[in-house]
Amino acid sequence: MVSRVIPVNPFDLVVFGGTGDLARRKILPGLFRRFCAGQMPQDAQVIGAARSEMDAEGYRQMVRDAIHEFDGRRPEECPELEGFLSRLSYVQVDAQGEGGWQELKELLRKDTVKAFYFSVAPSLFGDIAERLKNNGLAKRDARIVVEKPFGRDLASAQALNKSLAAYFHEDQIYRIDHYLGKETVQNLMAVRFGNMLFEPLWNSQYIDHIQITVAETVSVGGRGGYYDKSGAMRDMVQNHLMQLLCLIAMEPPSKFEPGAVRDEKLKVIRALEPVEPHHIVRGQYDAQGDEGSYRDHAENPRSRTESFVALKCHISNWRWAGTPIYLRTGKRLRARTSEIAVVFKETPHSIFDDDAGRHRNILTIRLQPNEGMELGVTIKEPGPGGMRLVDVPLDMSFSDALGPDAEEVPDAYERLIMDVIRGNQTLFMRGDEVEAAWAWTDPIIEGWEARNDVPKLYDPMSSGPEDSLMLMHRDGRKWREIRP
Ligand code: NAP
Repeated sequence: MVSRVIPVNPFDLVVFGGTGDLARRKILPGLFRRFCAGQMPQDAQVIGAARSEMDAEGYRQMVRDAIHEFDGRRPEECPELEGFLSRLSYVQVDAQGEGGWQELKELLRKDTVKAFYFSVAPSLFGDIAERLKNNGLAKRDARIVVEKPFGRDLASAQALNKSLAAYFHEDQIYRIDHYLGKETVQNLMAVRFGNMLFEPLWNSQYIDHIQITVAETVSVGGRGGYYDKSGAMRDMVQNHLMQLLCLIAMEPPSKFEPGAVRDEKLKVIRALEPVEPHHIVRGQYDAQGDEGSYRDHAENPRSRTESFVALKCHISNWRWAGTPIYLRTGKRLRARTSEIAVVFKETPHSIFDDDAGRHRNILTIRLQPNEGMELGVTIKEPGPGGMRLVDVPLDMSFSDALGPDAEEVPDAYERLIMDVIRGNQTLFMRGDEVEAAWAWTDPIIEGWEARNDVPKLYDPMSSGPEDSLMLMHRDGRKWREIRP
């Protein structure tokens, strides 16, 4: 199979925070891969912008090092590297000062797509938007890309939306949630809305429950200071897990285009019932010795921030009434894995003997590692000895099914940046979606604060606190094992 790469139009992309961690780890290596794939036009221009003093050659060296470190390829395997680097320049700009803006303006060319990536702390978003406007750069066709976290509650998200809306229209604002750029997430929509097979069964009549797990093995490590003010609910559930929930539960949009898709996602968030306090478990990893506990990493021996959340929620609409959705995410868990499992009901009546057992179909959508889908179906166990049933997977890992080209699929950041250049907002969050997600999350966090809730401790490399297992057991259900 030959992959089809459609080059985008010539563009000028300014990366504010172009010397930072995200730019060096994801944005610039991602652009390089698109350049190698032939999708980034030869005359595209990428301009790093930050306060550090550096000339264009110094910036190219920094990017060269970043590509070697994070792209994983050896220099001799990258014949395109120098061509890519020649497309880069650098401007010293202070988001809160006036220096550098004129120089930046002079670097931007006529008749190119203009995109401004705000890869800086959210506290600078408003400053940059204002200076873009004051310097005549916030033209009607310009695009801005903003990173998470988008607020820490409803009030701050509204304030952030307002500060951007003062200078840019909603159709110019691209709020990134890189989970939406994953190949499998888009494939989920292809599977749901491109086949007749699933959609008739995609409701509470046939689906017993849905589980969404995003498990990490890493600790909060060096991010302890930031994370301690955030916690798993703000850092993961409010954005990544809710976005996955929306895609799995939304009604079919009339068209695969930004307005229609985002309208349907918003309806799901608005239909979420408030979560009962006894339907949610907070956890914090605890370890003696060198590994350190969460509180060691957070540098606050009394921190009550959660590094783990498991919850049960309900969507109040015709499709989902009676089908719970369980969400779970945490750090220092047994394996790094992200998956959605759609667990179907048992058949209404078994024609087989009791010892044949009762089985359920499970559709598993794996986001990482090994992106792919698997459908568990029940068949007869081969061989003599009567009718015994066994579950076998119909596995569709992309690289097996589609050949080596499937391994070349762009990573989430690459795809999303190219979508910005194409002007396609389908895989970006709209302002009202983000606010609705905070409106659902805020009461949960406020409840913890009001009750002075203490997270349950859990061992590193486990599946989280015991209570999270009980959340399922009480309902006669079981979490899927967290495994690589
Ligand atoms: P970082 O490593 O601290 O980098 C911040 C960047 O902003 C640096 O290039 C810094 O360069 C620049 N900067 C700081 N103050 C500035 C100012 N006044 N004017 C102009 N530039 C300024 O942060 P990061 O990890 O890259 O994160 C950037 C954004 O992405 C944040 O919103 C973060 O929440 C989000 N994010 C990051 C990750 C990640 O994996 N890193 C993941 C998801 C989201 P100078 O000091 O030279 O100015």
